[in-house]
Amino acid sequence: MTHQIQITVKCPLCHHSLMNDTVLIDQLPAIELEAKIGQKLGKIYLSQIYGSYYKKFEGVEDVVGTIAVFSCSNCHQPLPVIQNCDCRAPQVGMQLEVGGVIKICSRNGCKKHSLEFEDVNDAFILLMKGDQTGLG
Ligand SMILES: [Zn+2]
Ligand SMILES: [Zn+2]
Repeated sequence: MTHQIQITVKCPLCHHSLMNDTVLIDQLPAIELEAKIGQKLGKIYLSQIYGSYYKKFEGVEDVVGTIAVFSCSNCHQPLPVIQNCDCRAPQVGMQLEVGGVIKICSRNGCKKHSLEFEDVNDAFILLMKGDQTGLG
């Protein structure tokens, strides 16, 4: 049995939800981010399933290796850079609804990401929640 962790996130700056339930990825509401790649501004939608790399690009090209500047789709402020990835691109953070941070690499094609919980109990709750959906 595999655990499928669903990540629902909000903007760490304005605390508005980043979930868009009109765009579905993996049959679930996607995480909507504004993305600037080069001079182009568009949207990138990410799967809310942790470990799924399905993405949708809107207005920006899906070119492996490019680095995007991610911003909140509500307040339009750039997401805070938490650290640099092993691939030297910035990793940005989003706030987990349950408390904690998910860090994602801003380089298209880089699979580095990680979760940091404020409290281990939050991680446990998230895993339990994933089980109850029957998706695991
Ligand atoms: Zn915001
Ligand atoms: Zn990276």
